[in-house]
Amino acid sequence: MHRVMIDTATYDNCREAVDHAFELFPVAVRGKRVLVKPNVLRGSDPDEAIVTHPALLKAVVEKLLELAPAEIIVGDNPGATAYGANEKTFQRSGLIEAAKGCYRNIGTDSVEVNLGGGFVDWVSISRAVSDADIFISLPKFKTHGLTTITGAIKNSYGIIPGAQKAILHGIAETPWRFSELIVHVFRLRVPDLFIVDAVVGMEGNGPVSTDLRRINKILAADNAVALDATIARMIGVEPSALRFLEVAKEHGLGDYEAESIEVVGALRPIPAFKLPAGTAHDGGHIREFLESRARMRPQVDPALCTACETCVEQCPASALSLRDGLPVADHSKCLACFCCQEMCPEKAMTLR
Ligand code: SF4
Ligand code: SF4
Repeated sequence: MHRVMIDTATYDNCREAVDHAFELFPVAVRGKRVLVKPNVLRGSDPDEAIVTHPALLKAVVEKLLELAPAEIIVGDNPGATAYGANEKTFQRSGLIEAAKGCYRNIGTDSVEVNLGGGFVDWVSISRAVSDADIFISLPKFKTHGLTTITGAIKNSYGIIPGAQKAILHGIAETPWRFSELIVHVFRLRVPDLFIVDAVVGMEGNGPVSTDLRRINKILAADNAVALDATIARMIGVEPSALRFLEVAKEHGLGDYEAESIEVVGALRPIPAFKLPAGTAHDGGHIREFLESRARMRPQVDPALCTACETCVEQCPASALSLRDGLPVADHSKCLACFCCQEMCPEKAMTLR
């Protein structure tokens, strides 16, 4: 039986929920090397809810400092625009200060590991991940156009440094296969504890959307499948509809069935939660749905676009070029990977 904690919290009092999480899911931290990985998709203001809020990170680091580990490392490998700008990304997001001297650029040193799953044989992951005795993951409660939610399993995609993430997006080709890929990456080093920032979540066309939702919750668990299934139920999605949960269950990483999960707290569906455009709630025809997402193409909002060319530079398929001052996609090359939407600093890009 898995357990998932759902505590009511704000950013001012989230330390209480963190204490509760460590009480329910004890981790033997004393004398150990601990890695804490927030979700740092890109540099953004904490109020945009794109990254794990610094208040939660600070509460976790302060808790860990009391538990006398040998070392705490706070790090992540942000998305494409942040290659080589890891520290700036953390700085902009308020996470350097929250890390209380424990921030480290984990993208500079990596080890090769066997991935499996038929994608590529070897990938590099940050050495700080492979060397950690204890791995604590701090996901953000958000939607995601490719995987419906970005929770515990998807947060581990960030253990891969540099441009490999975008290259693997390209190799996966379809959202169906991408859902399988994130499980294979997750398996490389399963975190020991997850604490989710669901105080302010994101709905609509995540993972970079202007549709924010005050949820006032902190969730925690020591099993990612049960945790992501609980997030799915909160937003009104049947967990069996999520391909990555199905694959994770097949690989023995946990169970998403309600009778296998004890919820500590109250699991209440969030009324009228907005899912990514076109997402099915019930799991019916989910494969067709994911395949249909592979036919989505980027569309720019000319009123918001500043022609900065970030999307053009970061597109893993070189599918974008600037025409008359606006990015235009070559549909024959586009992989519907959502990287351009994720990286656009003006939120000018959507996939339709
Ligand atoms: S145009 Fe956008 S969605 Fe298409 S491959 Fe490039 S980054 Fe991905
Ligand atoms: S869509 Fe966004 S990232 Fe692309 S050029 Fe316009 S502002 Fe820059």
